Order: sequence, then structure tokens, then C-alpha cells
Amino acid sequence: MSHIIHRNLHRPPPVAVRAAGLTVTDSAGREYLDASGGAAVSSLGHAHPDVLAAMHAQIDRNTYAHTAFFTCAAAEELAARLAADAPGDLDHVYLVSGGSEAMETALKLARQHWLEAGQPQRTTFIARRQSYHGNTLGALAVGGNEWRRAPFAPLLIDVPRVAPCYEYRERADGQSTEDYTAALLQELEQAILAAGPENVIGFVAETVVGATAGAVPPTPGYFRGVRRLCDQYGLLLILDEVMCGMGRCGTLYAFEQEGVLPDLVVLGKGLGAGYQPIGAVLAREHIVRRLREGSGAFQHGHTYMGHPVAAAAALAVQKVIQRDNLLGAVTVRGAALRRLLRDAFGQHPHVGDIRGRGLLIGLELVADRDSKAPFDPALRLHARIKEAAMARGLMVYPMGGTIDGKRGDHILLAPPFIASEAELAEITSRLTDAMTDAVPRALA
Ligand code: PLP
Repeated sequence: MSHIIHRNLHRPPPVAVRAAGLTVTDSAGREYLDASGGAAVSSLGHAHPDVLAAMHAQIDRNTYAHTAFFTCAAAEELAARLAADAPGDLDHVYLVSGGSEAMETALKLARQHWLEAGQPQRTTFIARRQSYHGNTLGALAVGGNEWRRAPFAPLLIDVPRVAPCYEYRERADGQSTEDYTAALLQELEQAILAAGPENVIGFVAETVVGATAGAVPPTPGYFRGVRRLCDQYGLLLILDEVMCGMGRCGTLYAFEQEGVLPDLVVLGKGLGAGYQPIGAVLAREHIVRRLREGSGAFQHGHTYMGHPVAAAAALAVQKVIQRDNLLGAVTVRGAALRRLLRDAFGQHPHVGDIRGRGLLIGLELVADRDSKAPFDPALRLHARIKEAAMARGLMVYPMGGTIDGKRGDHILLAPPFIASEAELAEITSRLTDAMTDAVPRALA
């Protein structure tokens, strides 16, 4: 019996005992091809020797230094590198242990920025439906430590949400992409006006939507329009790149392809590529200057922030990505994988859309391609496909993302940047087998 509270309380997952490259091996000796990088995490595959060596070296030097007492060389070097590689004046870095912590950090940093600007009435954010930013916000809302809570009250329980940029499903027949984008921006402007721009801290969005809708890129010009509205109404633009950042879309930051500079960027997953739990927030100079010239401190902190071994691992990941020109590889391999998937599923009656950026690729499953009607959520098709794939030694990330407010079915592929052409072909072949098995069985 397992004493862990697993996701599925009826059936614990296999026990992973070894992993190298794209292959994870379980305790029964079965091998799985990692086509999802876990959850779009493992950008360098498993057991990359350079990352392991950097971690070993750091472990020999120093494994922990609480930030109330010390900084450490690995964290300083990582922050300097992230700042140097980020566009514009995204020069300041706050290191935490994962994506949710990083999102909480960004929300509080944005809130404190306005507090110190003498605008305490800015207490809400505008976000989008169909987006995922982490699991922890409720923890602050229900926490009992008043001096930590009071500066941020009222707590962030709910915020107005506008439509995501989800062209496949939400652009009307006959509507041009330009008109669709303009309508989204109009909706956002109305939401800002309805909330009162003077009450809004910022707009929060994933640059490329990950887990809730399966790799949905924005339409051309959408984020330029968002940035314009944020500037016009004095809102901060907070982009969540936990899943789509750190090279996954073919540029280090996905927003580089949108021609905008956000005020805050939230990172996780690929930052440490699974070697260590680490997340980060990048902040522009004007955000940090406000605090520097105000209270002089950001009222926040976590026990494991700036962890030396996590920082050393993330730094090594960044060095490998740059040295081996893996951003270029992501673009080439992403295009190759999308081609393979289009060949395999382009005519599939239940694959409505194959999309994504770089090596963040989504398949949207539909009951009917013409009407784009989703499957009955009770069928749990995405979960059945995942199970059929696991039985064939393939890891794909299943998502019951939302479609029209109900759960829909998406499959996310996010293989490591080092995947070979043969591995991409094998991923496609095993996914074809899994779909051939799972879809008719679900519909029977
Ligand atoms: N933001 C996005 C876009 C994510 O995809 C995730 C995780 O899937 C998170 C935030 C939360 O990250 P974590 O699970 O590391 O807390």
C-alpha cells in the first residue's frame, strides 16, 4: 500500500526508478518515452550529464543558505544570466520553488508596487477564462497570519475574467482573425472600464495557453493590443510563462514572438527542467525602483527561495540550451513533430485541431469536426488516451481543459528539446496506436 495521497486514490501510478534522455523506466522494468517532458518540464530530457555535474559540484560546495542571512553565487549568477538574456529592462529576478509560488510572488509584487505608488485601491486583477496560473492562491486567502495578509487585503478570491485568445474554438464562422482579435481587445477594454481602471493592478495571461486548452498561441497582434490597453489605462502586464517560457516555444521567452515587453514574467517548469524545483519572477526596472525608493523591501519570502542547488541546476540548463543552440532545435523539431502529427491525424474524425508553438503542441479532440462539438466529459477521453499511451510506453499529457465552460479533451505534447527525429516518429506512431485503441473503446 502506498502512503502517498496520489492523484488517483484508487490506483497509484507506476514507480519511476530511472530516467535518461527521453526514457523513464519503472520498477517493473517497463520503459516509457517521455513525449510530454512530464508536464512540459524536462526540456533537456533526463539525467543530462552537464546538469548533473553542476548539481554535484554545488552539493559539494553548499546545499542551503537561508536568504535572511545570505545570498549565494549560484543564485546571483542565475539571476544575472536571466536578466542579461531577457529583453528590455527585465533586469530583476525573484527566485522561488515553482510556478505557483512564482505566480503568487508576481501578484503580490504587482500589488505592493501600486501600494507604494499611493494607489491602494488597486486590489483586483483582470485575467482570462481558460487559463491556469497555479494552485496556491487560496492558501493566502484562507491563511491565518494577519500581518502577512493585512497588507494585501482584500485577498484575491475572484477577479473579472475575459475571453481567452482561442481562435480555433471561439472565432465565429466568417469572422476574420483581425476582427476576432479586435473583439477580444474590445472585451478587455470593457472589463477594464467596468472594474474602473484605477482599481485594477494588472492583466494576467499565459502568452501561449498551456494546460487548460492545449497549446493555444495568440492571434497576431493580440498581445500588442493588450500592451496598448495596459499602457492606456495604467495596468501592469503580467505574463505567465511557466509552461511556454524558457525556450519551449522556440525563443527563450514566448512573448518575444509577440513584440511586447511585459512588466512581470512568471517562470517555472523549464527553468529547472525538472532537475530541481525552481520558479522565478522577472520584473522590470520601474517595478523594483518603486519599492527601492519606497519601503525598500518586498514583503514576501519563502524558506527555499534562491536555493543553491536549484539555482545551479537552472543555470546549467540555461548554459546547455545556449551552447547547444537548442532554441533553434525547438523550432525545427517542433515543425517536424507538427508535420508528423498532421500526417497521422490531419484527417482523423476526432482530432479537430493540431496547434502550438515550438515543442509545445496540442491536439484538440472533438466528437464532430464540423461542429467542433466536444465529447461528453463523462467519457474522460483524454484520460483514456493517456492510459492507452502509457500501456504502449508513451507519456503524453492529458488535459480535460475547458470548452464552453465544460471539460473538454486535449492532448499536450512537449517532448524534450533534444528529441531525435526517430524519437519524434516513434512518439507519433505510439500515439496513433493509443488513439486507435482508446477512441473507439470510449465511444462504444
Ligand atoms: N502557470 C502555468 C501556465 C502552469 O502551466 C503551471 C503548472 O502547470 C503553473 C503556473 C503552476 O506551476 P506549479 O505546478 O509549478 O506550481
